[in-house]
Amino acid sequence: MAEQFDVVVIGGGPGGYTAAIRAAQLGFSTACIDDWKTADGKPALGGTCTNVGCIPSKALLQSSENYEHAGHAFTEHGIDVQGLAIDVARMLARKDKVVRQNNDGIVYLFKKNKIAFFHGIGSFAGGGDGAWQIKVAGTRAADLVAKHVIVATGSKPRELPGTPFDNRLILDNDGALAIPAVPKRLGVVGAGVIGLEMGSVWRRLGAEVTILEALPVFLGAADEQVAKEAWKQFAKQGMTIRLGVAITRVTCANEVTVDYTDADGKAQSVAFDKLIVSIGRVPHTVGLDAAAVGLKLDERGFISVDAECRTNLSGVWAIGDVVRGPMLAHKSEDEGVAVAERIAGQHGHVDFNTVPWVIYTSPEIAWVGQTEQQLKAAGIAYRAGSFPFAANGRARAMGDTRGFVKFLADATTDRILGMHAIGPMVSELIAEGVVAMEFGAASEDIARICHAHPSLSEAVKEAALAVDKRTLNL
Ligand SMILES: Cc1cc2nc3c(=O)[nH]c(=O)nc-3n(C[C@H](O)[C@H](O)[C@H](O)COP(=O)(O)OP(=O)(O)OC[C@H]3O[C@@H](n4cnc5c(N)ncnc54)[C@H](O)[C@@H]3O)c2cc1C
Repeated sequence: MAEQFDVVVIGGGPGGYTAAIRAAQLGFSTACIDDWKTADGKPALGGTCTNVGCIPSKALLQSSENYEHAGHAFTEHGIDVQGLAIDVARMLARKDKVVRQNNDGIVYLFKKNKIAFFHGIGSFAGGGDGAWQIKVAGTRAADLVAKHVIVATGSKPRELPGTPFDNRLILDNDGALAIPAVPKRLGVVGAGVIGLEMGSVWRRLGAEVTILEALPVFLGAADEQVAKEAWKQFAKQGMTIRLGVAITRVTCANEVTVDYTDADGKAQSVAFDKLIVSIGRVPHTVGLDAAAVGLKLDERGFISVDAECRTNLSGVWAIGDVVRGPMLAHKSEDEGVAVAERIAGQHGHVDFNTVPWVIYTSPEIAWVGQTEQQLKAAGIAYRAGSFPFAANGRARAMGDTRGFVKFLADATTDRILGMHAIGPMVSELIAEGVVAMEFGAASEDIARICHAHPSLSEAVKEAALAVDKRTLNL
């Protein structure tokens, strides 16, 4: 006998588990199916983000940054460290513990919200509008019937053609987060968010890191001024980044040899002890049996959805990495909430223009809204104002004065069109730009708001003042 639910969510990553919580809050009987398991076969709710993405990467970034600070930044504070050493096994065990705390937190949230959890692979087995049949294969095998289905099956790492991941020499994000000893020579293919973050972790711990990027420009999605500053900072740290690289062959023996053509068209060859491949992610629909019900995918394999995450099937929705749009955990979460609210007849809304982007390198990079190059291309007249952390008291006290904050505002209305930042804790500061843009604020609004002193947020206020060419501390 099939179990009946108002809403069945397939996938328990940030998109799926958040959608399930919101659906349950709205009074729907809700189930969530997720197949992620630990090495010993136990459920591990939270998807890519919790298990092999956002959370473990930030845990390792923190550990490696602590190590780097102890080795280089402490002395100027009068703190001398002797016998500094990194125990990689202990660092990885801590990361696993952090992941486990997050997995357990979601189990608690499911219990609190009375969400039925099925550990296994969910697939479409038939049915139609108002009564979709979903089969669960796994430790809790079941047949479910749902009025609404939310597909949140996420994404998988993209392989280099002809070079499958083995997580011994050729590493995906999972392997990159579990290297058992610091490699001497680490190669990274792809200078995107994941490549830069993973490269940073292992460089701080002592690896020689070389990043090979196919595109001729560095961080093309970021504001040019920010990308330029990031390039300068990463070079200073000793990270080698080669742009315009066309990889021709990868061979594995005891080491990995990458043959490539460089930006000048010259043939090059470089050997590494490990190679992280971070060239993007592909939608994950294997196991879903989309064809059984005629669920439409687009030419790139994403589930086709409209602006409100409706698929071609009535009552079937899709959210997160498995659909178009930025592959970010918070975008998945917001789509999950919006879809649950739409099912309840409410007006859920996600504005891609106010989705913040963060790269958790050191210095951190964060932005929201449009870049200068986008505004120029669109012919929009704007005023820019920026403020360096070098003139911020808190940054000086912290000993990290790298980078700046920049606002871009409409030349006529002063409405904020973008905020771009590189520097200490800008992953947190960017929230002010997001709130401002959501409320349609002008740069003058930020400039007139009282900011605590001494705080990094004063650099945000000063950048807003700079739009009107009236900084107070520069
Ligand atoms: C190294 C790394 C670092 C990252 N850092 C950040 C960051 O700092 N900030 C950020 O915003 N984003 C980050 N991301 C991206 C982020 O992880 C993803 O955008 C996010 O996880 C997408 O959420 P999702 O719910 O759509 O899918 P996922 O998190 O991929 O979850 C999908 C879940 O569905 C399960 N599943 C798939 N098919 C089925 C099926 N048929 N039946 C049952 N279960 C199924 C999967 O096993 C998985 O558990 C990072 C990614 C990586 C790889």
